Amino acid sequence: METPKNPTSIEHRIREGLDRLAVVIRADDWTRAKSAGINPTQQAILEFLAGKPDGAGLTEIAVYLAVSQPTATDSVAALERKGLVYRRAQEGDRRSVKLFLTELGIDLLDRTASFGKADIAIDRLDDGEKQELLLTVVKLIKTLQDLDAIPVQRMCASCRYFSPFAHQDGAKPHHCNFVDAAFGQRDIRIDCRDHVTADPPSRAATWDAFLRG
Ligand code: SF4
Repeated sequence: METPKNPTSIEHRIREGLDRLAVVIRADDWTRAKSAGINPTQQAILEFLAGKPDGAGLTEIAVYLAVSQPTATDSVAALERKGLVYRRAQEGDRRSVKLFLTELGIDLLDRTASFGKADIAIDRLDDGEKQELLLTVVKLIKTLQDLDAIPVQRMCASCRYFSPFAHQDGAKPHHCNFVDAAFGQRDIRIDCRDHVTADPPSRAATWDAFLRG
């Protein structure tokens, strides 16, 4: 069969490409999690809790991972049985329970921070390509958030500490008010542990300033 003269739309072909990348990333996740005796959802919960020194509730975990409450409950129960997380009732409200990483959970995360095939492919891009791709990924995630396809992610673009283009320095134009330091486009975070979600009007203003440059 001949290759058609007119390819499908560029949007369709980008979607096809992302689909192939997602397959490899999922396979990497399975390999990494399997080596630690857990599954990718459990691994993602551990990674989420690693950025939550004050713990996180089950609902928060389910929303962040975009999984159902029963899936989050089952996954957390499995992690508790393995001694990787523990739950603690909150002072003053014993019905409110938060989950935390155990020492064993922290150790496991350190051991499984491996380099998968998708990481190798990304590493082979040049510096400019990596930076462009990072910004494209941020834009795609932002749109998916606006469409309610995923919850607000812990990205700089939605963080109350983010001041885009606060500096004249072309290499480090942005400012993080959490650590009070300038940083560059290449350092924009997708999943920052120190992220605090800004209120919707501030998020919109920050995003406009980020896009304007
Ligand atoms: S705290 Fe993290 S997400 Fe927020 S601006 Fe600083 S680096 Fe970005």
